[in-house]
Amino acid sequence: MSPVIKVHDRFFEPFILSDAIEKRVKQMAAEISATYEDKNPLFLAVLNGAFILAADLLREINFQSEISFVKISSYEGTQSTENIKELIGFTENLRGRHVIIVEDIIDTGLSMQHILKQVNSHSPASIKIATLLLKREALQYPIEADYIGFDIEQKFVLGYGLDYDGLGRNLRHIFVEKRP
Ligand code: 5GP
Ligand code: MG
Repeated sequence: MSPVIKVHDRFFEPFILSDAIEKRVKQMAAEISATYEDKNPLFLAVLNGAFILAADLLREINFQSEISFVKISSYEGTQSTENIKELIGFTENLRGRHVIIVEDIIDTGLSMQHILKQVNSHSPASIKIATLLLKREALQYPIEADYIGFDIEQKFVLGYGLDYDGLGRNLRHIFVEKRP
C-alpha cells in the first residue's frame, strides 16, 4: 500500500487502489458493450481529467467505436467555481451519432450540464454519461450518469487523471485528502 503523499501544501492518502479501479473500469466497459456493440458510438472524453479513464476504458471496448476529446475548465484549487469556460476541440459531426461522454468526476454537475447542453445542440441520436467518480451528495444540477465507477463522499481526490493544481494526474491510485 502506498504511503501518505504530499502534493503542493496538502496531504493525501490512498483511497481507491489501482486494482479496484481496473476491475471497475472493466465492468463499465462490459455494461457499455452490452448496449452499444452494433451502434458505432462516439466516445467524447473530457480533458484533461478523463484521459486515463478514456485510455483504459477504450482498450476494454472490443467493437467498432470512435473517440474524440473536448476540454472544459471549471475548477480551481479545491473549490468548484461557477466560472465555466468554453468547450474546445468540439469538431465532430454529432448528428445522428450515439454519444457517450467520458468524465473523470461529477461534483456539482455544472460542468456536465454545460457539456450536455452543447452536445445536445448538435442533434445526436442519443447521449449517455460514463464517469469514474460521482459525488452524489454534491450534485446541484439534474445530472443522471448512466455508467458510474464509484459513488464517493464530498472529499477532494486526486490521481488516475485527477489533479490538484496540475499535480497528481499520473498517480496509479486515487488518493483522498487527509484531514488531521
Ligand atoms: P462540477 O462542475 O461537477 O462541480 O465539477 C466537475 C469538475 O471539477 C471535474 O471535471 C473535475 O475537473 C473537478 N473536480 C470535482 N471534484 C474534484 C475532486 O475531488 N478532485 C479533483 N482533482 N477535481 C475535482
Ligand atoms: Mg473533469
